[in-house]
Amino acid sequence: MPKTNKTKTKYAAKRTVAQVLKNKITEEKVKQNLREIITYIGENPSREGLIETPKRIVKSWDTLFSGYKKDPAALLKTFTEGSCEEMVILKDIEFYSTCEHHFAPFFGTISIGYLPNKKVIGISKLARLVEVYARRLQIQERLVAQIADCLMKHLQPLGVMVVCKARHMCICSRGVQKHNAEMVTSALRGVFNKHEVRQEFLQFIQKV
Ligand SMILES: [Zn+2]
Repeated sequence: MPKTNKTKTKYAAKRTVAQVLKNKITEEKVKQNLREIITYIGENPSREGLIETPKRIVKSWDTLFSGYKKDPAALLKTFTEGSCEEMVILKDIEFYSTCEHHFAPFFGTISIGYLPNKKVIGISKLARLVEVYARRLQIQERLVAQIADCLMKHLQPLGVMVVCKARHMCICSRGVQKHNAEMVTSALRGVFNKHEVRQEFLQFIQKV
């Protein structure tokens, strides 16, 4: 996240360039590129089963990359009423994301816990927040960090912890080809740096 005004301006300029470039790339051009990819791998893009494939791929991106169009700040309406002093946890939120190194799917579950500081949010908002960041090109390490940082910024709790367990198709289907390897990443902020707080959260999210 940009911190200074200077980096903010730089970031905004970059986004504008990306926007301009995007406007020049038409859907037809993208589909043509996909037809070339199909040819490159040794297939015939004109055969019956493949003729509509570029169109279907582009359509699937409406869901897979929908996170770019969503503003996480707009989601996080906070409430002071009903706030508590105990840990709030939503565990095993399913997610589906795309590895930015290989453009391959990775998916699994994310568990989020926070210790409120006079403010809470609707619990479904945590699941929606996962969608905002998962539906982008991602790496699992950044995914948990972005969720944790966003909650720290907008909800201002005493602390946040996010744990993600996922299987990566880029590992299962190519490279080392390990089908059952599960990657675990976590991000902890604030009071979750304390051993006992972290332990309480980990105990809650453990499978019985
Ligand atoms: Zn990968």
